[in-house]
Amino acid sequence: MTSHTVYSRVPAGAICVDNPIKALGIFVLFFIALFALLSAFKGVPYSYSLWSLDSTSTSQNDDALGVNSSQSVEVPKDKLLAGLLPEGLDENSCLSRYQLVMYQKQQMRRPSSHLIHRLRKYESLHRKCGPFTESYNRTLEYMKLGKYTNSTDCKYVVWTAIHGLGNRLLTLASAFLYALLTNRVLLIDPGAKIADLLCEPFPEVSWSLPSNFPVTSRQFNAFRKNSPQSYGNMLKNNILGNSTSTLPPYVFLNLVGGYNDYDQLFFCDEHQSILQKVTWLIIKSDIYFVPSLFLIPSFEQQLSNLFPEKELVFHYLGRYLYHPTNSVWGLITRNYDTYLARADERIGIQIRIFNWRNHGPYVLDQILACVRKEHLLPRINQSKSIFIPFDDQKPKTKAVLMTSLTSWYSEQIRNMYLQHPTVTGEVIQVHQPSQEKYQQTGKQMHDRKALAEIYLLSFSDKLVTSACSTFGYVAQSLGGLKPWILYRPEKLKAPDPPCQRAVSLEPCFHSPPSYDCKRKKGIDTGKLVPHVQHCEDRKKGIKLVDRNEDL
Ligand code: GDP
Repeated sequence: MTSHTVYSRVPAGAICVDNPIKALGIFVLFFIALFALLSAFKGVPYSYSLWSLDSTSTSQNDDALGVNSSQSVEVPKDKLLAGLLPEGLDENSCLSRYQLVMYQKQQMRRPSSHLIHRLRKYESLHRKCGPFTESYNRTLEYMKLGKYTNSTDCKYVVWTAIHGLGNRLLTLASAFLYALLTNRVLLIDPGAKIADLLCEPFPEVSWSLPSNFPVTSRQFNAFRKNSPQSYGNMLKNNILGNSTSTLPPYVFLNLVGGYNDYDQLFFCDEHQSILQKVTWLIIKSDIYFVPSLFLIPSFEQQLSNLFPEKELVFHYLGRYLYHPTNSVWGLITRNYDTYLARADERIGIQIRIFNWRNHGPYVLDQILACVRKEHLLPRINQSKSIFIPFDDQKPKTKAVLMTSLTSWYSEQIRNMYLQHPTVTGEVIQVHQPSQEKYQQTGKQMHDRKALAEIYLLSFSDKLVTSACSTFGYVAQSLGGLKPWILYRPEKLKAPDPPCQRAVSLEPCFHSPPSYDCKRKKGIDTGKLVPHVQHCEDRKKGIKLVDRNEDL
């Protein structure tokens, strides 16, 4: 097609109009037409060009990560999460892996190329060293003989569980990051009962420790800080000399809150170089120890390459590792589609009562004070029986997803909004998927519901969580949401202010070490570097933060 042909389609005299704005418009139209024709000629769909322009011009939402959830443009979804997930995994056996992206409101930021590269490298290592591979079988022989070996290129971290699901998900991700940093393969204790909840994350080779492993789940369970296999205990009793001949085939790392000074030496470089030589490390933990890995000098560079945005560490690890099994995914999607999908906005409220003496009307007052003060939910109008709209617009609906072991709070809030109109005319629907009354970790259906609720909370547009709850931490980080944290009530009184916005998406490490490995004295680890600071909800805890205000 020649330029002459194109010109000949423009009406005569059209380019000679004297109104410059009109002329500019015609000029622009002309170029769009030209581009359309050229695109058609090259076989590029014209509509695609416009659509991709739309998708890149979306504005950032201050709430969290990326695309403004209120816009109506259909943003193309990337099912491999910008390269975070590996290709080639079966879709039907784990629907959540690729469907999750349609539910989570905040579009994921792009993981660093280092992280993507490192994950692919990890997957090859897992394929080479995972259960029943030649390398694994060889290592196991030494293990069975109780002998130390350095003759294998495969080293392992075995993760074993303790406490509730939130704790488990945080510590499993911490153990995985540690495995990435130290070139180890992560295997999980089958006693942790994760297989019913989460799909296998790595291609081809399982992450579950086989039953032929010489240390059983029951033994893992019995490991304590004073166990002879404990690294801290070995240090305390001076069992490890300088020679590798004194190294055992495996050591147990006690990283459970309340751990002692010897256990905490795990976070010193000097001890990392000893641990590097041990083939099997067994980690038992109930704490999100990632922030302290950022304070180990030998990991510093790797971590900064992997995670240029510090507050997205668990977000990426969780999205990479955790994919609810089809049975849990069914619970999640049915709840979402029935109660939440059609609302104009979804507000998640997670109520965790740690001490049942701190349960009652003042906690309800605190929740209501928080959602009103932060404009998350409207006030009710007690003097009117009905809201009279100013125009004939359909009222907006807000769906409130409440999660708690007790149904009392959601019942009160639901009744309040049913008995009175809101001052704004908005319709408020309150839904609580389960009321389990007490924690029953280890029971299949209980754990499935807990995981389903963590994910449902993560699908919120705005999230309110309870202070110090790992259940809430997982939901906020997976969802890319900075929650409003409800402070713990003190002396049976609602605190004032009732809640505070979190400074980052990252979970809090509740019991960080307080030892300066270099100077060999106590130190405040929340004050060493700008990206590790004390938590809002636990002053002695530490968390990763970004200084970048527009995250
Ligand atoms: P944390 O104790 O709040 O840090 O969270 P965890 O998840 O580690 O442990 C609490 C456990 O109690 C959960 O794993 C569930 O088993 C149960 N639980 C607590 N709150 C809820 C809730 O809102 N919904 C459900 N279904 N279970 C809950």
